[in-house]
Amino acid sequence: MADIHSNLTAFQAVLGDVTARGGVAEVWCLGDVVGYGPDPGQCIELLGQYEHVCVAGNHDWAAISKLDTAYFNPAAAAACHWTARQLTDEDRDYLENLPLTIKKGDFTLVHGSPREPIWEYLLTVGEAEENLAHFKTKFCLVGHSHVPIVFQCSESGKCSLSPLSDGEEVALGEARLFINPGGVGQPRDGDPRASYAIYDEETRKVTLHRVPYDIKATQKKMIKQGLPMPLVTRLSYGM
Ligand code: ZN
Repeated sequence: MADIHSNLTAFQAVLGDVTARGGVAEVWCLGDVVGYGPDPGQCIELLGQYEHVCVAGNHDWAAISKLDTAYFNPAAAAACHWTARQLTDEDRDYLENLPLTIKKGDFTLVHGSPREPIWEYLLTVGEAEENLAHFKTKFCLVGHSHVPIVFQCSESGKCSLSPLSDGEEVALGEARLFINPGGVGQPRDGDPRASYAIYDEETRKVTLHRVPYDIKATQKKMIKQGLPMPLVTRLSYGM
């Protein structure tokens, strides 16, 4: 799962869905645990209750001043400064120690891209093709764009792109793949439901799942905390 973004209600809904599907051995988190939403500390704490690994995202770094918010749009920067004020020393330690890249068997986990783990968005086949040389495993899991998508790449290094919809399965075969499971806490593909994927080691399939959650509950908390209105309203549209 990627881009939880301090949206505890969405995160809880996703974890509930995981449990209803029989649970997972380990949560693989693709960064941006915090930023934008109203519950940064609670999201770090809840993630910590699960067997998990997590890489750093740009918002995780910005919240602990490891990255300058001058590169953020005004709403994102305002939310980031608010987030920084909510974090405990323990939360900051957790974010401080997140690695940029994690290898899990056949998978490389990064937030943005293998070439530029914090910043680069993998949105086009050209970007995917250029990134093939930057990781050694067969498959790469990315977040950052909050859009569920898969890039399939041939042996000759040509990639093709397909969006992933609810229930869609990606079979792991010969092709190298980049898979983005979409965003948990701030989806941006026009579907406001939380997005994540489950990898089944036995069937060698990755399945995308969309999970409805109480968007209004998150929005109420954001308004109460004075978080920027554009960040509140976009949750209704998944944009
Ligand atoms: Zn993000």
